Amino acid sequence: MADAHLFSGGLLFDGMNAPQPGLGVMVQAGRITAVEPESRFAGWTGTSVDCSGGTLLPGLIDAHIHLALEAGLDPVGTLRSRPVGDLTCRILENAAATLAGGVTSARDLGGFDWLEVSVRQAIAEGRQVGPTLRCAGRVITITGGHGAWIGESSDGPDAWRRAVRLNAKNGADCIKLMATGGVLTPGVEPQSPHPNLSELTAATEMAHDLGLRVAVHAQGAAGIRRALLAGVDSIEHGFELEDDLIAMMLDRGVFLSGTLSSMDQLVRHSDRLSAEMRAKVERWHVRHFASFRRFVQAGGRMVLGTDAGTPGNHHGANAGELALMVDLGMTPLAALQAGTREGADLLNLPDRGRIAVGAAADLLLVEGNPVDDISRAADRRNHRALWKDGRAVRTVAPVADGPLYLPAAAAGF
Ligand SMILES: [Zn+2]
Repeated sequence: MADAHLFSGGLLFDGMNAPQPGLGVMVQAGRITAVEPESRFAGWTGTSVDCSGGTLLPGLIDAHIHLALEAGLDPVGTLRSRPVGDLTCRILENAAATLAGGVTSARDLGGFDWLEVSVRQAIAEGRQVGPTLRCAGRVITITGGHGAWIGESSDGPDAWRRAVRLNAKNGADCIKLMATGGVLTPGVEPQSPHPNLSELTAATEMAHDLGLRVAVHAQGAAGIRRALLAGVDSIEHGFELEDDLIAMMLDRGVFLSGTLSSMDQLVRHSDRLSAEMRAKVERWHVRHFASFRRFVQAGGRMVLGTDAGTPGNHHGANAGELALMVDLGMTPLAALQAGTREGADLLNLPDRGRIAVGAAADLLLVEGNPVDDISRAADRRNHRALWKDGRAVRTVAPVADGPLYLPAAAAGF
């Protein structure tokens, strides 16, 4: 038991059940080897981590981030201005910031030329610091559609199938489809369905044949309906979840990734956005939050997804999504489940997002009990320590709310 560590003395949230006292967690070689009543470890003389006054959680899982985006007000212009080496460095920095925010696994739902796939590999091999990543590679969209500035523009079922194959060939381990317009892309509207059902179905079937799960950007109801009919695995954003769409999601076990952080930041910074973006935010933010609340009330399956990298939505501030989820009707326990075990299930990471024998030792120690007060987990000033695969990645690092990047062109890109 040379490198074994015993975590004890605090509450334990295992990813599912309400936090419990009196349990010890043994970690060795990056894995959890025992979860037992503390009395079983009496006489332990090896290394111990005292969790008194705190709660030990699985590291958080963010099911929707963009490592290539920098949270500035002009994502399109900024991305276009970056030389490839600079962009690669920033992806690495954003990955490290994500981990420092308590997020030990994350799904990148739209990168740039698969640079983030190489970063995923470097992290997995221990050469760089960051969360365990799932990467969708290039988003798949229609010509002139949402995200075309980073995506694979495709028209017709064969082209959508080919775009899935192209991503798989370049190492994607999930697929992102754009079913509607969106807020950040000029000239498209969130309520407009973009691909037709045959395109969405062709891509979804191709992805599933290759063993890849499918996340769909779907804001207005028409696009959400097509995505659900196509058989996708998660709806991203879901601004307009009507009752029958929610019923379809519950029936099919489709997850919602609410991306409340993204809309919250857009609302906060609306006076600094382009006129077009500001108008979309004004039209949609109330409906988006109401839609999320309806899904919660219906008991739908939820993951934590922030859309980190969108304007004002900084990498490393991901945990704040937990507080927004609770503001919109989730219990703190349900929000924590969404941010750990449910995320692991959607991302197909069966040995993460939980504290159980055999699981990876991705552990977050927070002050107090987050079920009594979600800010204990949502506000990273309350994060006491973090371990990734059993290794301490940092102790306390209070977050600075970084300045917004505001290029001169932001007013009217
Ligand atoms: Zn996104």
